[in-house]
Amino acid sequence: MLSFKELGLEPFIIKAVEDLGFQIPTDVQKESIPLLLGSDIDLVALAQTGTGKTAAFGMPLLQKIDVNALHTQGLILSPTRELCIQITKEMQTYAKHIPKVNIVAVYGGANIQEQANKIRKGAQIIVATPGRMQDMQRRGMVNIKKIDYCILDEADEMLNMGFYDDITSILSQAPKEKNTWLFSATMPSSVAKIANKFMNSPKEVTIGNKNSGAKNVSHECYTVSGRQRFEALKRLVDAHPTIFGCVFCRTKRDTQRVAENLIESGYNAAAIHGDLSQNQRDTVMNSFRKKQIQLLVATDVAARGIDVDNITHVINYQLPDESEVYTHRSGRTGRAGNKGVSIIIVTQSEHRKIRSIEKLIQSKIAHKIIPDADKICNAQMLHLAKKLSDINPSESAEKLLPSFTKQLDSLSKEDILKRLVTIELDRFHNYYSGKSKVMDTPKGKGFSENESKSRINKKDEVRYHINIGERDNYDWRTLKDLIKGTLGLNGDEIFHVDVMKNFSFFSSGPDEKEKVIEGFRSVNIDSRDIEVSITEKFNPNKKSKKSKSKKSGGSFSKRSFSGRSKPNPFKFSKKKKSSKRNRNKK
Ligand code: ADP
Ligand code: MG
Repeated sequence: MLSFKELGLEPFIIKAVEDLGFQIPTDVQKESIPLLLGSDIDLVALAQTGTGKTAAFGMPLLQKIDVNALHTQGLILSPTRELCIQITKEMQTYAKHIPKVNIVAVYGGANIQEQANKIRKGAQIIVATPGRMQDMQRRGMVNIKKIDYCILDEADEMLNMGFYDDITSILSQAPKEKNTWLFSATMPSSVAKIANKFMNSPKEVTIGNKNSGAKNVSHECYTVSGRQRFEALKRLVDAHPTIFGCVFCRTKRDTQRVAENLIESGYNAAAIHGDLSQNQRDTVMNSFRKKQIQLLVATDVAARGIDVDNITHVINYQLPDESEVYTHRSGRTGRAGNKGVSIIIVTQSEHRKIRSIEKLIQSKIAHKIIPDADKICNAQMLHLAKKLSDINPSESAEKLLPSFTKQLDSLSKEDILKRLVTIELDRFHNYYSGKSKVMDTPKGKGFSENESKSRINKKDEVRYHINIGERDNYDWRTLKDLIKGTLGLNGDEIFHVDVMKNFSFFSSGPDEKEKVIEGFRSVNIDSRDIEVSITEKFNPNKKSKKSKSKKSGGSFSKRSFSGRSKPNPFKFSKKKKSSKRNRNKK
């Protein structure tokens, strides 16, 4: 086993390493440090998040700079303010025993003059975010004309965030003969491009597979229909009572909405996204770090600075557009030797993305079923039992106990336990068993419409016409959900759903006939009367007639749902979801 010393590091750094309690170098450190300490080279180093890349470039850089010179010799570019601060602090710990070394962080949202003053005193190393760095270059507050080393840390993140032009512009002021070290978790083509442009036949260090995810993270995927996402999230959280997790959404607006809904439902959650002020973000992050917040709902951009080691679960509430982003998300868990789970909530139509992620992380994603009421209660019960057996009874409890015991004199231990479980767990049971019908969980991968079609004997098919269709923004999947939700059906009773522009067809077996007709007798969605009638075998040319001939059937009250005992799970209007999403995309 190679030690830090054997990598060629000098005593003053070894001492800091010992202070920190690092036992052995990580793989990326083992490979990169000797290379960087040797002759002057350019380097591309790829290793997943949490593998100690900061030390891999930080230690050699500290050893190579001339502390007796005051000019800036090393520039580290990092994607976010949080990472910038983190890198600076870490470098300062490594430099603890080196006299005269000055490492200055340069990032937005803080006083620029103060940062400039620190640099003026002589900063051998500057750690900067691209935006602030350019700002200071324009104002002549920094000078990188004589740097020897430029480090692009989390290069994939920087490029994801659109910093390509900024990096180009910053480096245009650096000397040609400097060395560039690029560190990244993944190697998308954009990173390869930057390596080509800025680097001189770089050496390459790759730990694990290129683009692969962390080894101690397992991946799980749950298929739901789009409108079940939130319900699925709640179930997954309730099935993991000790969860300390990060929930990823695609847009700021979704992030805010999901966090608000979680809070409203009694969860300990908060949102972090770009619309919050830096102060607000810091407050949220601090509470999360202290575990005062159990669920942090985040956009990808806002999550970039999250450096919390004990995250148990990452939940992909929505998948990102690019698979590489997924590896960043899942890399937030399974850090520092812990195990982690990355959960993905998807709709059927997103299964293609799952396959592309599997390719990228080079491992299988397990398809699982959303936990039902029993599973959730069982998990909560175990949690309660553990809490009971772990807790140290307080003094005040001792004091109160005699009168408490007296009150419960007539009950046996078992009675008391039963009642305790009832108090604690019945709300879960009542809530989820009542709701279970809304949650139509496809078995594992979910059936495509064709698969479920083929299970039914054609001659037993009852065909219906319904007066909603594409222009109401339904496709077969969402319409099928609507029908099943309205009728309280849970399995494959409804099939063969064909959505036309203004109306649609669907089928059931003969047993469901009455239920379908009765169930739609007085239904109204988005202030529209829903009409369902039995039709002849599917014939696209005939159905317009049918729809008219049905007009007389049944009386539909606009308020019909309010009289029902079950709330209408589909009360939300379904206006152009996709355009909304694009508009809010960050
Ligand atoms: P990365 O940049 O690869 O995501 P970091 O450099 O942020 O990872 O390191 C992750 C954590 O591991 C940090 O808390 C760091 O202090 C710690 N660490 C780094 N190297 C070692 C080591 N050799 N042994 C133990 N812990 C280490
Ligand atoms: Mg890093």
